[in-house]
Amino acid sequence: MKKILILGATGSIGRQTLEIIDANPLDFKLIGVSGFNNTSLLIEIIQKYELSIASVKDSIQAEKIKKINPNIKILIGEQGLIDFAGFNPEEDITLINALVGMVGLKPTLRAIGINRNVLLANKETLVVGGHLIKEALKKSSSNLYPIDSEHSAIWQLLNGENKSSVKRLIITASGGSFRDKARTELEDVSLESALNHPNWSMGSKITIDSATMINKGFEIIEAVYLFDLGIDKVEAILHQESLIHSFVEFEDGSITAQIAEHDMRLPIHYAMYYPERKESIAYKLDFMKLNNLHFKKIDFNRYPCLSYAIEAYKIGGSMRTVLNAANEIAVRLFIEKKIKFLDIERIIKEEMEHHQVITFPSLEEIYTIDSEIKTRIYNQY
Ligand code: NAD
Ligand code: MG
Repeated sequence: MKKILILGATGSIGRQTLEIIDANPLDFKLIGVSGFNNTSLLIEIIQKYELSIASVKDSIQAEKIKKINPNIKILIGEQGLIDFAGFNPEEDITLINALVGMVGLKPTLRAIGINRNVLLANKETLVVGGHLIKEALKKSSSNLYPIDSEHSAIWQLLNGENKSSVKRLIITASGGSFRDKARTELEDVSLESALNHPNWSMGSKITIDSATMINKGFEIIEAVYLFDLGIDKVEAILHQESLIHSFVEFEDGSITAQIAEHDMRLPIHYAMYYPERKESIAYKLDFMKLNNLHFKKIDFNRYPCLSYAIEAYKIGGSMRTVLNAANEIAVRLFIEKKIKFLDIERIIKEEMEHHQVITFPSLEEIYTIDSEIKTRIYNQY
């Protein structure tokens, strides 16, 4: 039986992870959860499972939880997330990081620091601190497993293969909620239409990130770190049905693909059971759907955020923090209806243009840059 801690249990990935735990009670034991916004759901989860630990936003939430479960250990705030990831360090527990945003970086490093396996959905962590995570992994016996449909696909496709025979990875992209719109039609798009993703039901931030396509840029960066390949070997292609989740092309000309319904419970399940394969609750593919697959090159002018992400990776160092911080805060402002959709890309571009790069930023420098950018931009609107 695997013991599980979930960071971000109230979110889209967190809730789907709970479904897998519920369906397989003999294989998984939930030890603790963190939650931030949705207090009533957090309380529901805490009432349902016999948890040892919970990490919450503030003392108000902590008080509410204490009332319904006086025995549970409660941690608070950002430090709470870090201590949560390091809970009972000598115990064999798997950490599932389903947080959104770079708030997940320190907890991930903490888990790696105590040789704990991490299943990572929280991609911003790799975008911003991939260099620190890679260093930490070298000194640790932890495994870092991806929870993202594209990276799960590549992980499966590379099983048993020699990495030096890989010519390129091709990550598929649905195109997001505005894929059928031209750039000229994006000026006044609403928040509601941006949140209406054609294929996936996800948290609001990643849904907006898919509409701007910065999500695909993040995933290219994620793939570079996870699979240790140069960024020039990772490409993205539009595939509106989201049934092929990635391709790997090998030196001999062979191309392999991973195919499944678009259901995140499969990549979560795969990471939770790895290296085993077991019956999953994910929707199974109707084979006839494969009669109707479409692929298209991505137009970088249509999706400039994809270029910004690749550029930020290539410039390196603290530019990746700038990319992410500007995006996180711009998406928040868009969700709060304080800026327009196209302001997101403008804000990212402006921040990147004005930044003086630190080549190998420390954790402290990353957090300082992140908070300076977020505070300054947020106060402008
Ligand atoms: P979500 O918004 O639905 O959930 C995020 C979770 O993090 C919630 O539990 C929330 O309470 C918590 N949280 C948010 N801000 C926090 C903060 N400042 N401090 C502590 N906790 C905080 O997001 P999601 O869609 O589940 O995505 C989670 C991560 O997984 C993201 O990095 C996303 O890019 C990635 N991802 C998601 C999907 C998907 O289908 N949803 C697919 C692939 C990758
Ligand atoms: Mg993805």
